[in-house]
Amino acid sequence: MRAVGRGAPRVVDYDVVVIGSGLAGLVAAAAAAAAGARVGVVAESFGGLAMWSGLVSGKAPAGDEELDAVRFFIEFGVRCGLEYGGCGGSRGAEGEAAREGMEVLSSSGRPVRCLLAPETVWAGDLRNWASSGMQADDGGLLVVGFTELEDYPAAVIAGQAAAETGVRTAHRTVSLGRAAGRGLGVRIAGLFDDPAWFEGFLEASRRLLGREARRFRAVALPPVLGLFRFRSNLEALRENLGTAVFELPAVPPSLPGMRFWHLWRWRLEADGRTTFHLGRRVVEADTHGDRCLAVSDGLTVYRAAAFVLATGGVAGRGLEVPPEAFFRLSKPTGALRPGQAPGGGPARPGERSVPVEPIFGLETCGRRTDWLSWGVRVQDSSRPCPTGGPANVFVAGWQLGGPEPDALLSITTGWQAGRAAADCREEGTQ
Ligand SMILES: Cc1cc2nc3c(=O)[nH]c(=O)nc-3n(C[C@H](O)[C@H](O)[C@H](O)COP(=O)(O)OP(=O)(O)OC[C@H]3O[C@@H](n4cnc5c(N)ncnc54)[C@H](O)[C@@H]3O)c2cc1C
Repeated sequence: MRAVGRGAPRVVDYDVVVIGSGLAGLVAAAAAAAAGARVGVVAESFGGLAMWSGLVSGKAPAGDEELDAVRFFIEFGVRCGLEYGGCGGSRGAEGEAAREGMEVLSSSGRPVRCLLAPETVWAGDLRNWASSGMQADDGGLLVVGFTELEDYPAAVIAGQAAAETGVRTAHRTVSLGRAAGRGLGVRIAGLFDDPAWFEGFLEASRRLLGREARRFRAVALPPVLGLFRFRSNLEALRENLGTAVFELPAVPPSLPGMRFWHLWRWRLEADGRTTFHLGRRVVEADTHGDRCLAVSDGLTVYRAAAFVLATGGVAGRGLEVPPEAFFRLSKPTGALRPGQAPGGGPARPGERSVPVEPIFGLETCGRRTDWLSWGVRVQDSSRPCPTGGPANVFVAGWQLGGPEPDALLSITTGWQAGRAAADCREEGTQ
């Protein structure tokens, strides 16, 4: 393994190195650290979390393993200060919330089904509001938009929600003032994280919305109520407006995804077992026989007893799709093996017809032009070692591909891979 820059590369040692800090990478790091490992996370960016509404979608967890993974996710989230669970505030620590799933009101005004949702969007079942006979002044939903945030048109959301749920709705749009700039969610969340600015917003909202808000069962706001102070802000707004207040799940770019990333990263760092190396793209691996000894970003060599590959598949840049593949994999039938041309015959020299895993050169499989279905082929999905790859490398998240990759896949496989990687350390020391 060589260094790209001048001189000898820096070498750092961990028990487990996690490549990627998306949902799967963070869960894997947390699981490995919880098992006592010293963990290094090496990642280029935060991955698909910027697109994530914050809702965990997927099929209900089937076996005990999946339920244990979901429980771990919920419990670690509580420690991070971002609770996940069922509508109406049920924490679901026993995994029951995820077994049953739930409905939340989406930012399109439609109720959508998911397995788990962050605490900020819990609002109860709107359809029950309608059937419980809530009328005029003792029920309904007030949708509040911000002039500067055009992605959340309060009138459209309120109209759709009324049509879909039968609940009485109304809408108001208020301005956040010049400080909100062009209305980028991250900038607005920064204002909500500023106690002095928020104090002014509370005062204005009491004046503009207070009397009206009390007549509604809940007020729905865009999901920008702070990257860090969202919980206390929500509480203050509830008290101030005299009714329930919740956020609508995000459209990209997603503040809830960013919240998740920051809070999990801080918790992991604060626990003292995990170190983050961010803005680093791993470019090569040092393997001997069936073991990986180290990976490198060209400047630093990261040695470990085991590695988690959580680089996100085609969407996360963990699999590279060459331009010729985009244009030539046009018939959506069957899976391709490396070296096989789209028509089924051998690939021409220099022609790569399938997504390539660039760090270890692992075998990939998937459904032709259905790019999200592509992933690294693994021997055993509950201990996801790559087929023919190093035995101490474990694959997690969308890097596994599959028919419908979702957040639940990242949670369950991140948890499995993190634990399996931590076990390797113990195997090595026996
Ligand atoms: C288009 C899109 C649609 C989505 N739809 C849904 C949905 O319907 N339901 C749902 O629940 N969730 C959805 N999500 C969010 C989704 O839950 C997460 O994005 C998903 O779980 C993937 O997580 P991951 O950790 O496997 O990969 P990613 O989040 O992609 O993370 C990959 C990580 O690997 C890093 N990386 C990649 N290559 C390297 C390298 N060589 N060296 C170092 N780091 C590297 C990236 O920087 C990143 O940190 C969607 C996301 C996207 C992008």
